[in-house]
This record gives sequence, structure tokens and C-alpha cells, in this order.
Amino acid sequence: MRSIKTLTAILIAVAACAPTPDNDSAVGEPRTLEDPAADTDGVTRVLVYHDMEGLTGQSDPNTFRFGHPERYAVGRTYLTGDVNAVVAGLFDGGADEVHIVDGHGSGNPEPDLLLDQLDERARLISRDEIFDAYVDLMEPGMYDAVAVVGMHAKTGSGGFASHTFTLGIDFLLNGMAVTETEVVGYSWGRVGVPVIFASGDDRLAADLAGPMPWVEFVTVKTATSASSATPRPVSDARSELQATASRAMENYGTARAMRLAEPVTAQLHAVPPADLSMLAAVPGIDYADQRVTFSAPDFRTAYDGLVGLVTVARGGYASVMSETGRVMAGPRFGPTYSDALFDRWLDFESGRWTTPESSPAASGMFHGFR
Ligand SMILES: [Zn+2]
Repeated sequence: MRSIKTLTAILIAVAACAPTPDNDSAVGEPRTLEDPAADTDGVTRVLVYHDMEGLTGQSDPNTFRFGHPERYAVGRTYLTGDVNAVVAGLFDGGADEVHIVDGHGSGNPEPDLLLDQLDERARLISRDEIFDAYVDLMEPGMYDAVAVVGMHAKTGSGGFASHTFTLGIDFLLNGMAVTETEVVGYSWGRVGVPVIFASGDDRLAADLAGPMPWVEFVTVKTATSASSATPRPVSDARSELQATASRAMENYGTARAMRLAEPVTAQLHAVPPADLSMLAAVPGIDYADQRVTFSAPDFRTAYDGLVGLVTVARGGYASVMSETGRVMAGPRFGPTYSDALFDRWLDFESGRWTTPESSPAASGMFHGFR
């Protein structure tokens, strides 16, 4: 049994080597890093998230937007090429099974990936109901590692199409502004699964160097602004994607699973075109400088709260919509919109208008953030 004297000595030693706390975060570490959970089924299974902003050959933002069909068609070829290179590398490095999930959300009801050109050893996850690719797939014992392809840097980092979750949104977890790659990492860290591989631009490489140094990263282009980039030659970058994914797979046991300290302090920070200032005067809400902060018992509750606040912050998009309306409809836009609002109010108040049934749940197959 350890004597009190020894315990006191240990406590003093711990206090002596503890880092000086920041002004506002005197409590413990914001997260812990752990060894990957042991493989329980003897099958080395990897989940690949694809996004569509950090692709090889890509320098035009319209290539990841479903609303620009000609450019988007080109983006799909970049995407499929990069995913195939990574899938090949993962198999080279010892994976037995590779599953892919759409982490992009182009708006295309069909997968962004060109399935007829996808490596036939891999399969795209689809479900018969809507799911959130970041948080709803998590299941202990299913996957041994996660790889992410075609990712982008976080909001404010100056990367190509840099953002977090959606336009004008910045997520902070326990005081750390996070990339989507880290959101995936903290989600899978709940069941001990590490992120082992990522690809994207030079700014994402910088974003991940601090928080996820074990991740094998391939820089496929250099961002020159949020809407421009200088891509590497495609064949060079693709060879490196394959070789690096293979190395990541061989060494996945040395990667780290990331787990947030609980309770989780979550903060949503809005920048244009999003806006949170409508919450400034609401009592009980911790608001300052376009930031709303709350405490949640765990990662999932924090994530769901952030997603709820995103809906509020997207209220800021309305200013762009009214600018667009004025451009398209001219001076009649304001009065027409005002009449429509008044009609809705008077119709509802008169019993002539009722809230429509929420549209019937979309049916079919869902493959992630479509
Ligand atoms: Zn993304």
C-alpha cells in the first residue's frame, strides 16, 4: 500500500511539472490520446471519409459544387481518382476491407463518387434513412482505422475553400478550434479508433500538424486564396497518396485515438455570411463577439448542440439572399417580400394557412452528407 508520504511526494512532483495554466483554462488537459482499441474480429477494416475540396488537380471551387454541372463533373473525376489511390494504398498496407462514406454534401442525391470507376474492392456505405456521417456510424469493434481524403482546412486558416461544417462556421471543442478531420477524430476516438491518413492542401497540413502529428498527410496543392490553389502534378500526388496510405496502414497501431475531456465546452463562432448576433440580448445564453459557448456532458451532445446553433447562425445568410433578391427582382423585391410576410401573418391569424406537414421523409438510399 502506498504510504501517504509517497503520495504527497508524487503530488508535489506532478504539481511541479504541470504546465502553467492559461488564464481561462485552469482545469486539466482538453483531451487525451490513447492507443487504438484492439482488433476484436480479426478483420482489418478501414473507413474512408471523402470530402471534395482538397483534391488533386483542383483549383476551381465550382468543381465541388453540384450546382455547376460542367465543373462538378470534372471534380468527380478528381475525387474518384484520389479515393482510388488511397483505397489501393490501404489494401497494399494490409487492410482487409475498405468502406467509404460521403463526408461532403454536394447536394447531389447521387454519390459524388463515380461508382462505376471506383476500385471494386471498396464499397460506399449507404443506408435507407438519413444519417450523419460524422457521428452516426460509430460502432465499437467495427473499424480499426479511419482515413480522410480530399479534406480542407478550417475556417480562418486561409486554405482552399477553408471552412468547418458549413459556410461561415467555426467549431471550438474544449477551447480548440477544430477542422472537420478533428471532428471525425473525436467522434471515432469515442470507440478507440484513430485517424491514420489525410489529404488536402498545405493549410490543412498546418492545421493538423499540432493536434494530429501521427496522421500520415499528403499535401496535394498549395492554397493561394480561399478560391484558388496551385495543384501538384496529378500523377505525382496520386502516387504519393497511394504510398502514404499504405504506410499509414502498416503503422496504424502507432496512431492515436483522440478523446475529449468531459464535460465538453463547445463554442460556435460565426463569421460572414453566418451571424450569431441575434442571440446577444437573450438571457441565459453565453454570447460574446459572434461566439456562443455551452457545456455538454460528452462529444455527441456537444456536436448536436453545435449543429443546432449552426441553424441559428445560418440566419445570417438571409442578408445575402435579400441582396440577391434585389439584384434579380429590382426595387420591387422589398415591397413584394413585405406583402408576402403580411399575407402569411394575416392568413395564419385568420385560420386560412396552417403549417404544412413536414415533407414526407425522403426515401431511397442515403450515402452520407448528400
Ligand atoms: Zn468538408
